[in-house]
Formats: sequence, structure tokens, C-alpha cells
Amino acid sequence: MSIEVKNITKVYNDQKALNNVSFKVKDAEIVGFLGPNGAGKSTMMKILTTYIEASEGSAVVNEFDVNSDKKKVQSSVGYLPEHNPLYTDLYVKEYLNFNANAYGVPKSKINEVIELTGLKPEAHKKISQLSKGYRQRVGLANALLHNPEVLILDEPTTGLDPNQLVDIRNLIRSIGKEKTVFLSTHIMQEVEAMCDRVIIINKGEIVADKYLKDLREGQDQIVIAEFDYRIEDAFLLKLPKVTNVKNPHGFVYEITFNTKEDMRSHVFDFAHDNDLKILQLNQKNTSLESMFRELTS
Ligand code: ADP
Ligand code: MG
Repeated sequence: MSIEVKNITKVYNDQKALNNVSFKVKDAEIVGFLGPNGAGKSTMMKILTTYIEASEGSAVVNEFDVNSDKKKVQSSVGYLPEHNPLYTDLYVKEYLNFNANAYGVPKSKINEVIELTGLKPEAHKKISQLSKGYRQRVGLANALLHNPEVLILDEPTTGLDPNQLVDIRNLIRSIGKEKTVFLSTHIMQEVEAMCDRVIIINKGEIVADKYLKDLREGQDQIVIAEFDYRIEDAFLLKLPKVTNVKNPHGFVYEITFNTKEDMRSHVFDFAHDNDLKILQLNQKNTSLESMFRELTS
């Protein structure tokens, strides 16, 4: 087991940021820690990397206790903090060199992590000259220097443009083939793109813990239909296998069905039979999205 969290509570002043949180992460899993802003994700990650201490409960990382074995936890964990604080006046190699010395890691590791994170074309530059995507690579390279078993990445893809996003996701996935990765995000699509498993946290409590494989095999689908006129929800609830109807705005309806069969043709026929025009018709097989929204709304 790479990470074992047992009944962790963290109180800041009088506010509970984590409330009796427990979970385990197995070796070589990529686990997404998903929750809205303020849910307690960064707090959990700071406890697991020994930057702060829990108010109650315990956690073990790579068999080492975060309270009694801090040094060993630190030497077996790679951490990319939120907003990846980098010394922007340093050149990439200077920065990695400094940290390699601090970790007591041989210089040969520097070129290895530069290679591994695709930093080579930019490795001669000052950190301030790098794009956000390349800065994230420097942060990842830094987290990998001491060859840790477990990587803890706090919002590693937030703020990247779409191209950078794809590159960093691929990089994290490839790192995750050999290492345990525990990454946080408030964006559900990031979990779908990178993770094997999702742990959802809301207001300091774990509200779901699922393998993506199981979610993908789930039956829920949402059909988003826009009509040219208002329809009573009760009317749409007469469609076969409907479980829920929402009207987020205007004449747009989100109709949830519990079946694998593509229900768009049924919605189309329904519109035709009722003299309605369809302006838009889309299907989403997104049990993760609906689960996330329901659990955190
Ligand atoms: P997330 O990373 O999911 O956005 P955080 O763990 O940063 O959430 O924060 C959880 C809650 O704890 C928030 O309400 C935040 O304001 C509060 N919090 C975080 N750090 C501190 C701190 N050092 N002092 C007081 N409150 C804090
Ligand atoms: Mg955070």
C-alpha cells in the first residue's frame, strides 16, 4: 500500500478543513483527488508530504508514518505543490542542480529527469522565460529527482492551455506506469483523462471512491435536448427509462436515462410526435460528471 490515511481531521482555528478522512492508495495506481475549491485537497496533500500536521488521525506513506518518520516520508515522496513555486531567476539546470544537492542526489539524475519530462529543448533557459506548461515540467522534474515511489501532485494541470494540457496529462500518465500518483483537481475531465480511480472530497469529507472502469461501465447517460418551446418535466418523464429531468436554462433539458441504448432517437421521435422542433441533441455517457455534480452541489 502506497498511502494509507486513517481518520484524519484537520482544524484551522475553528474551521474543519478535513473531517475524519480515510482512504488507501495501492502501488502504481493513478488516483484523482477531485473536489471543488476549498474542499480540503491541498490540506490533505500537505499532511501527506509532512508540510503540516493533522489535528487528529494518522497517515502512512510508503510504510512510513507522517508524524513519526517525517524524513523517510520526505525522501520517498515527490511533491508538486499548487502554484508550483519556482525560483524564476534561476536557469532550469541551476534550479535542478540546487535541489539535487539538497536531496543528496548524484548530478547524473538531472539529465535523466530532464529527458524524462521532455524538458530538453528548454533546459538551457531561465525559468522566467518558460511557458506555464514547461514550468510544470520543471516542477515535475524536481519532484522526480530523488526517484520517489509516490508522487503527490496538487492541481498539476490547472491553468494550462489546451496543448500544454494534453502534453502534461500524457507525461503524468506515463510516469504513472511506474509510480503511484495521487493528484488533485477540481476539474472532472482531468480525472477522466488521467486516472484509474477517483476519490471525491467535498467540504472536508470523502463522498465517493470509485474506479473509472466501473463508472464507464455504468448505465447512466444524459441526453441534452433543446426544443423550440417549453415542456413540462412531467411530460419528458414519460420517456422510456428516464430517471431524471433538469431544465438548466431556456428550453434546454438534460434528460437522464438508465440504459446503455442510445436514447437520442427516442427523444427525436418524442419531439416529432408532439410537434416540437429540436434545435440541439447531444448525448453524454457521463456517470462521473453527474455523480460529481450531485455529490458536490
Ligand atoms: P482545496 O485545496 O480543496 O481548494 P484547501 O485544503 O486549500 O482546499 O482548503 C480547505 C479549507 O481550509 C478552505 O476553507 C481554506 O480556506 C481553509 N484553509 C486552508 N489553509 C488554511 C490555513 N493555513 N489557515 C486557515 N484556513 C485554511
Ligand atoms: Mg488546493
